[in-house]
Amino acid sequence: MPRFSPLDRDVQYVKGVGPRRARILERLGLRTARDLLYHTPRRYEDASTVSPIGSLETGMEATIVGRVVSKGVLPTRGGLRIFQAVVKDRSGYVECAWPGQPFLDRVIERGDLLLLSGTVRFFHGKQFHPREFTTLAAKGEGAPLSEGRVFPIYPTTEGLPHRHLRQLIADNLDELLHEVETEDVLPEQLLAEACVPPLPRALDLLHRPPSVAAAEEGRRRLALEELFFLQLIHARTHREATQSVPGIAFEPRRTLVRQLYRSLPFELTGAQRRVLRQIGEDMSSGRRMNRLLQGDVGSGKTVVALFAALRAIENGYQAAMMAPTELLAEQHARTVRGLLADTGVTVEILTGRLTGTRRREARERVASGEAQLVIGTHALIQESVEFHRLGLAIVDEQHRFGVRQRLALSERGDSNTEGSRTPPDVLVMSATPIPRSLALTLYGDLDVCLLDERPSGRGQVRTAIRRPKELPQVFQFVTDEVARGRQAYVVYPLVEESEALELTAATTEFERLKAEGFSGLELGLLHGQLPSDEKERVMEAFRSGALDVLVATSVVEVGIDVPNATVMVVQHAERFGLSQLHQLRGRIGRGASTSYCIIVSELGHGSERLRIFARTEDGFRIAEEDLRLRGQGDLFGPRQSGLPAFRWARLETDLFLLNLARTAARGLVAEDPDLASHVRVRDALERTYQERAEMFRTG
Ligand code: ADP
Ligand code: MG
Repeated sequence: MPRFSPLDRDVQYVKGVGPRRARILERLGLRTARDLLYHTPRRYEDASTVSPIGSLETGMEATIVGRVVSKGVLPTRGGLRIFQAVVKDRSGYVECAWPGQPFLDRVIERGDLLLLSGTVRFFHGKQFHPREFTTLAAKGEGAPLSEGRVFPIYPTTEGLPHRHLRQLIADNLDELLHEVETEDVLPEQLLAEACVPPLPRALDLLHRPPSVAAAEEGRRRLALEELFFLQLIHARTHREATQSVPGIAFEPRRTLVRQLYRSLPFELTGAQRRVLRQIGEDMSSGRRMNRLLQGDVGSGKTVVALFAALRAIENGYQAAMMAPTELLAEQHARTVRGLLADTGVTVEILTGRLTGTRRREARERVASGEAQLVIGTHALIQESVEFHRLGLAIVDEQHRFGVRQRLALSERGDSNTEGSRTPPDVLVMSATPIPRSLALTLYGDLDVCLLDERPSGRGQVRTAIRRPKELPQVFQFVTDEVARGRQAYVVYPLVEESEALELTAATTEFERLKAEGFSGLELGLLHGQLPSDEKERVMEAFRSGALDVLVATSVVEVGIDVPNATVMVVQHAERFGLSQLHQLRGRIGRGASTSYCIIVSELGHGSERLRIFARTEDGFRIAEEDLRLRGQGDLFGPRQSGLPAFRWARLETDLFLLNLARTAARGLVAEDPDLASHVRVRDALERTYQERAEMFRTG
């Protein structure tokens, strides 16, 4: 247990709280004095953000401050009740309206000074529609928002008016700041490098900043702490996964590896060689490999994985490669069987499609070791699958899997039938270029390497933005390309999550295209609801050239490789994220001739996102832009991504802090793995990340 600090006292003992208010604060998640101190404003208002009421124009988004001079509830013909209040400042009056919120009549009183943010509409004159309001002062109380002052807006809850909460914090702040002095646990050197204020000063700046910019200083200090603790956990996990677990030392025998080199129809790129050297070092060391290979679509990750697999196999081990879809697993198996034809390596495929005797036999070959390279889907991590001697676990398109599934494959070695218990090396691959800040946050426990070079001999990819009214020309262009022997994709977004609706949407479009857009061409339809046999049949027809145009939902996003396809038309492109669009564009430009990506959207060139996409081909830049434009919250919901819910850190701006935090954390863990001589750091970690701090407990 961390040692007790006065800040641990129940919030009810804080001056001005008491048991009744403590129950209300509990609803905000505030249980201790510390919680109250860390309950920082959600945003700030200052004189520069407040508009004089007299200057409001219809259509404006504005924040205003004024006294309520009259108010009341109006019924409407539709039966809706509207609360209205007329608000006045020195420059004029405006009527504010809250449709459907008659209860506000009990909350807002005449004489109240309100801070309101919302939109100016036109309704018998100008009317203000507030999205949010805060009561700054009641009748007769002085105004807290004066010239030059920054006003903090706290998250609050029913039963605790904002001005009371603000007062409560203001009354106790000096004492709480004094108490927090001993909890500034970040290494001094880190604070200095990051140029952030000490903890008490940072919290002070957050609660009562002299300017909005000063509050940002405070935020950076708290963000640094969050990032530091997360990196501490990562550093520790990394250590556990690599240092404290013995790994297999694969020797560089080069028998199979050399054969593959000879039979490759191309030269490896510089980036592939570099990455293979790094993987080779990991594999031959006695430590366990735990590596992420990031490489844009088409950068040639499969071959890299195959070389690693052969290294394991020529040392007498098995290798397994898990892909997120059957389509992709089957494609990998086909590619790999082709490349390994002369080597005698036995390749087994294990997917959900195998049933009955064939499945039993496949599993037997895996368990006996007869299967040397096993390629499959989630089917690989089912309980009943046993390996003979798994030496290398590869996860392709790993962002499609949850963390647990990624771990499940790497733990397969525990059931090795041959008896050895040394865990397999792990190589995870991702074609989704993600911003560096996100990679460090999500995968801080892995060593990351990058394939940042496109294989040569690829044609250019041109990107154009078109509006739906230009579709006839777009379809004509596709038809012309087909006449030149090429193939095309036409992709629709998933309109609805519902299976039935997805099916109708895709099918209707397909029928329409067949009749109107592309009469005379061979069309195939691919969507998530097709049975897997049918999917494979359609893909095979497209691959072999029997189909000219593949109409698809975003199933084609992942890993499909048809070099003769040179056109990608994306319908309703605005509904896709930039990174998703980038994945789609990665399906073309795989052969030697020029390819064309045509994104169709009502927004046309009016969309900044689409313009960025059309301008750059670099997946990492696109990912950075996506993060900047959409923000971390929107881009990566914590639920599916495993991204921690940061309170202060912002990945879109804090890469500098993140790098410093990571270096400091790795340094600290290397020097003192159990934090035995950094007790205050350990205490703070346990308080902040309680459930995850388990691994730091000694004994
Ligand atoms: P991804 O990184 O998207 O998984 P793949 O491994 O599927 O990419 O490779 C895409 C295509 O590029 C494949 O057809 C593969 O054979 C080819 N390829 C891989 N490396 C090279 C190279 N060095 N030179 C030329 N073609 C290559
Ligand atoms: Mg791939």
